[in-house]
Amino acid sequence: MAKESQQPARRHAARRALVTGAATGIGRATASRLAAEGAAVVVNYIGDSGPAESLVNDIEGAGGRAVAIAADVSNEEQVTAMFGQAREELGGPVDLLVNNAGIEKPFPLVDMPLDEWNKVLSVNLTGAFLCAREAARGMIAARAPGAIVNVSSVHEVIPWPSFGHYCASKGGMKLWAQSVAKELAPHGIRVVNVAPGAILTPINQALVDDPEKAREVQEEIPWGRLGKPEEIAATIAWVAGSEADYVVGTTLFVDGGMTLYPKFV
Ligand code: NAD
Repeated sequence: MAKESQQPARRHAARRALVTGAATGIGRATASRLAAEGAAVVVNYIGDSGPAESLVNDIEGAGGRAVAIAADVSNEEQVTAMFGQAREELGGPVDLLVNNAGIEKPFPLVDMPLDEWNKVLSVNLTGAFLCAREAARGMIAARAPGAIVNVSSVHEVIPWPSFGHYCASKGGMKLWAQSVAKELAPHGIRVVNVAPGAILTPINQALVDDPEKAREVQEEIPWGRLGKPEEIAATIAWVAGSEADYVVGTTLFVDGGMTLYPKFV
């Protein structure tokens, strides 16, 4: 008997998706997955175009449709220009936005430079706002239903010393997303957060390089291992699809149980 496919074929056919920070990690896996399910995908990136272009080549080689667009999500002009270009390249407004771009760099409160605080808030939270605003404007004007999925974090709810800016950005993302979910529901636009636990991506290179640190993190995960970018991508693909039509304004934690506080008795 033929093995049943794990991926619903063409679930996102006719969709115009834009994934921010899609050259690496969770964003890359998500762009690949959405394209494999039929979406035309904008691969947003910042800096070196090489990894984004190679992803576009991979997607096109597999018969999908993708375009790489450079933009700093924290820059209003660049975000507006990116959505304009996306509309032209894809033939209509983006109707699936994945706010994935994010950064982190630890500083204890007393040593936190204002620049570093501002940088993390600007990319992780203001960037999500700027992209969601453009996406919502386009969908509302075209009367097109759609979805906005924010990649937040278990640090929506778990405090993390030396990452006060990161936690502020992801905690802020929670209530911001819930607020705009209420605003956009009457327009048929769903807003949902997907909150990863510890996932093996470049942001976590320090863990990969240090077995002792990796072991410490694993102890915080009842399921006993770190997650894979593809597991977050699969969740995003589901939550953005019609099967999840009743999932509105909430956060899905995909964390191997990290939010169960395994070290608490
Ligand atoms: P990553 O570093 O591979 O991905 C982040 C991407 O964002 C990179 O491609 C980077 O170039 C891009 N980026 C950074 N600044 C940008 C800007 N100003 N404009 C556009 N793009 C920008 O790491 P990742 O783990 O794949 O992270 C993706 C998201 O997942 C982030 O929001 C992160 O906070 C979140 N997250 C990750 C984990 C994890 O364990 N890896 C856990 C929880 C949440």
